[in-house]
Amino acid sequence: LLACGLVLTLSGCAASPATGPAGGGGPVPKPKVGVILPDTASSARWTTQDLPQLSQSLRFAGIEPDVENAQGDEQSFADIADNMIRNKVRALLITPLSGDGGIAVERKAKLAGIPVIDYDRLSLGGSADYYVSFDSVNVGTMQGDGLVRCLAGRPTADIIELEGAPTDNNATLFAQGQQSVLGPRYNGGGYRLVASQRIDRWDPQVAARVFEQNLVGNGGHVDGVLAANDGLAGAVIDVLRRHGLAGRVAVTGQDATLDGLRAVLRGEQCMTVYKPVVDEAEAAARLAAALAKGDRSGADDLITGNTKDVTGQRDVKSVLLGVQAVARDSVQQLVSDNVVKAADLCAGDV
Ligand code: BGC
Repeated sequence: LLACGLVLTLSGCAASPATGPAGGGGPVPKPKVGVILPDTASSARWTTQDLPQLSQSLRFAGIEPDVENAQGDEQSFADIADNMIRNKVRALLITPLSGDGGIAVERKAKLAGIPVIDYDRLSLGGSADYYVSFDSVNVGTMQGDGLVRCLAGRPTADIIELEGAPTDNNATLFAQGQQSVLGPRYNGGGYRLVASQRIDRWDPQVAARVFEQNLVGNGGHVDGVLAANDGLAGAVIDVLRRHGLAGRVAVTGQDATLDGLRAVLRGEQCMTVYKPVVDEAEAAARLAAALAKGDRSGADDLITGNTKDVTGQRDVKSVLLGVQAVARDSVQQLVSDNVVKAADLCAGDV
């Protein structure tokens, strides 16, 4: 409680300098930064983590945030961006639904002289100035390792893979990491890949349909499911329940959402990957604030490396953060680290 009180005091607007008097005149308007998040259905993170955290971190950095969500609609994404550009935001932070959608916004922003940060998803072939995300290949490696660990002791295993949206570069990176672990096992190592499919828009409803078809097509049998995030995992678990198989099949996930962690505690999901969105949002907010204030060298000081965009044949200045695998025995650690509250975890049907 004490820690919580402290955080609230620190993030309160009292500390913010931007509305103070300037030369005896009226309040100085804070620079505006626009954020466009992709949807609400593909992962709880966009609503429960990124939205509040980005708003708070931007405010704390003396910025007036405008955080919107495209609700899974490409046209809305473009319209919101047009509006923000018209309203003269000083920087844009975008998580596009597709590379093409991202590229189009980046082009318009460039013409208007507005710097763009690719937030979480890189638009290959685009022109964003910066990229803030996690080591996504490593997310995939952890999912592969997690699945193997959960299937320990089984010399053979039938696997179904449900991957992320074909328009999301992250989904490709996750799959790359997974393949580094699972590839050799499919190639004579005892595992059999029953089916692998990328799920449009990361939509759990689509995933449920696809998974059920694959399961039934394989005679109602599966040992492990590589689900690329907790949303897809939740859809898989619902189907497994209906077939009386929940808890008997190893299912992976990602994002450490409340639903995901509860499923891990119930033993219906074998692991998830915790990505510290608080740190991601904070890094992006600091970067955006520096850019919004015209401080390019301050922004460059925050960079931790470059990301190769093979399509665009360029290096994108990046901040890439580490991730953590979470299994049943390590959920407690997230509670101790204040990532999730025990009361929230234990509410409901855990
Ligand atoms: C993000 C994941 C998220 C997925 C679906 C990816 O780009 O990195 O954290 O689960 O999109 O929204």
